[in-house]
Amino acid sequence: MTELEGPVSDRQTMDVDVVCVGFGPAMGGFLTTLSRCLLTPDGTPAVESRAMPGMPPQVLCYERADDIGFGVSGVVTRGRGIRQSFPDLDLSQIPLAAPVAHETVVYLLDPIGASRRSPLLRAADRCIRALRHLLPYKHEALNLPYVPPFLRKDGGLLLSIGQFNQWVGSQVMGTGAVQIWPGTPVAKPLWEDGRVAGVRLTDQGTDLQGRPEAGFLPGMDIRAALTVIGDGPVGPIGRQLDERLGLPEGHHRREWAVGAKVVVDLPESSTLEPGTVLHTFGYPEPEIFGFLYVYPGRIASAGIFVPSWFDSPVRTSYRYLQHWMLHPYLWQHLSGGRLRSWGAKTLQESGRRGEPHLAGDGFVRIGEGSGSTNVLTGSGVDEAWTTGVLAAEGVLELLRVGQPFTKANLERAYVARRRVNWVEAEGHVAEKARDGFTRGVVSGLVGMALAGLTRGRVAMPGKSLPPAKRLPTIEEYYAARIGPEEIARIRQDCAARGLSLHNALMDRCGWPAVSYDGQLLVSHQDALLMGGKVQAPPGYADHVVFLYPNLCETCGTRICIEMCSGQAITAGDKAVPAFDREKCIHCGACLWNCAVSHPDDPERSAIEFRGGTGGLHSAEN
Ligand SMILES: Cc1cc2nc3c(=O)[nH]c(=O)nc-3n(C[C@H](O)[C@H](O)[C@H](O)COP(=O)(O)OP(=O)(O)OC[C@H]3O[C@@H](n4cnc5c(N)ncnc54)[C@H](O)[C@@H]3O)c2cc1C
Ligand code: SF4
Ligand code: SF4
Repeated sequence: MTELEGPVSDRQTMDVDVVCVGFGPAMGGFLTTLSRCLLTPDGTPAVESRAMPGMPPQVLCYERADDIGFGVSGVVTRGRGIRQSFPDLDLSQIPLAAPVAHETVVYLLDPIGASRRSPLLRAADRCIRALRHLLPYKHEALNLPYVPPFLRKDGGLLLSIGQFNQWVGSQVMGTGAVQIWPGTPVAKPLWEDGRVAGVRLTDQGTDLQGRPEAGFLPGMDIRAALTVIGDGPVGPIGRQLDERLGLPEGHHRREWAVGAKVVVDLPESSTLEPGTVLHTFGYPEPEIFGFLYVYPGRIASAGIFVPSWFDSPVRTSYRYLQHWMLHPYLWQHLSGGRLRSWGAKTLQESGRRGEPHLAGDGFVRIGEGSGSTNVLTGSGVDEAWTTGVLAAEGVLELLRVGQPFTKANLERAYVARRRVNWVEAEGHVAEKARDGFTRGVVSGLVGMALAGLTRGRVAMPGKSLPPAKRLPTIEEYYAARIGPEEIARIRQDCAARGLSLHNALMDRCGWPAVSYDGQLLVSHQDALLMGGKVQAPPGYADHVVFLYPNLCETCGTRICIEMCSGQAITAGDKAVPAFDREKCIHCGACLWNCAVSHPDDPERSAIEFRGGTGGLHSAEN
């Protein structure tokens, strides 16, 4: 029985051999490897297409963002997989790329007294301050004398993900063997007789609810023998597969983070050398890690990670990013700098434990959505790339011998390759590395060190829960600092004046107002316009959907409003929050931050995040 949906009479169909979802580093690795082997040097097919006999296999890749270089990431990477794909890699060909020169890990103390520190951490801070003349202490920060080997990126690369993706895309398309289509979100996988038979693209010419309007163009069905899914941490195609197939026994996806970052022109006086890597922890909240990487041309990439185990029900990344930049240790480098671009994006931090079914009849999963990101080494790009390479090697093996893309064949040709690869081995080492954070920051840091130094043999135990189950109410979270009556008053005032609650609560807890300089410290709205250049073309349905308005109506936290990276979710004038797709940067953070579990699945939240167009328009993030 076919499960292909209809009947939209004018829905078009196209047959190809391989259809790919998303163009991030994982798909870069897949298409780089595949495209080199589809044609012989004289341009004739090395293997034959089934969709178009006599031709090489037809390979199409659809990317939802308006350009293939609009991703968001760090990136410092050991680059083992990337270098293996490009043994003669010439970094001067990739704008903003540099070899890693110098790495430092820095513990940031709280210079203003507003950070929510445990008594243990406060005691540690007092000791450090008392002994500061004996320690490498400067600018309210302690330089750790040693970078643990599991964090080190010796011989590695600094990249801008946008520039790197553009460079890879041009190499891949230059082969003539593959087409990449940006600005084309995939809506859903097509199921046929229990196998994935391709994908459906999103409808165009609709209202915000997806109802046809003038100029309606139903999304095309792209039928393919193989669908390669590399749609990243919050990708809707991967998640639809998970909803249907479930995760393998014992696996779950409960650990997330939102990474928020800026790309900055450093001041002329900057003494930071290209290739410099700074990792920070301890401030603005102890749970928030930070990074600063220096590219050539006095340009830096800097940002923070706000993790799901930071249990604040108003966790906002934008304001915390500004307080982090203003820490004296970072401000000594950033003061006088200028914002070039800005962005935020979710990371899937469950790693190997969040691994879905990697292959099935007609599909394979690659990249972060396939559980490749390593939370111990803080590394996802090279891991994602390598899973793409392994998938391509498996696919080529099957194409050459003319075997179909069945689950059994893909398990043998792709999954088996993955099981003996370094991504898998290191993923196992990292598997329990962050469990300690479910009990507190200090036990989390100790757990990471233990797991890293013992190659995963010892770790701090901890019980992970889906974010919605961990999240306290605002009243519970602020119990020691603000009484419930005052919180009620602040809430009322914010609602009446249309102000953001998280800002008011942070102000009340002693966080100083950020004074905007119009250059680097700008309002959130200005960051969207200046730094993110956020846009969304008309004629598409909303991609963020509040699935259960009745649950939103009774939701006490409404964290989706407070944490939205683009201020795209607002209180609106109804009990259900309002969504403005023209401000959405597709970071995906609302998906896992929502405070309420899905009624049918406690591991999901009450928000749906679908394939959609638009978002950030910066090729530097
Ligand atoms: C702020 C930040 C800093 C980071 N720093 C580092 C670092 O220093 N080092 C490191 O190694 N890693 C870092 N990472 C992690 C790294 O960026 C990811 O692990 C990596 O990008 C994963 O690659 P991917 O190809 O699997 O997914 P992605 O890069 O997420 O790519 C997936 C692509 O699929 C597209 N897509 C999604 N849905 C659809 C759809 N429906 N239709 C079509 N296309 C779709 C997306 O637009 C995206 O382009 C960082 C991440 C962030 C956010
Ligand atoms: S989407 Fe989730 S967090 Fe937002 S109001 Fe609804 S239930 Fe609450
Ligand atoms: S609405 Fe958009 S910008 Fe806001 S959290 Fe969700 S995905 Fe991110």
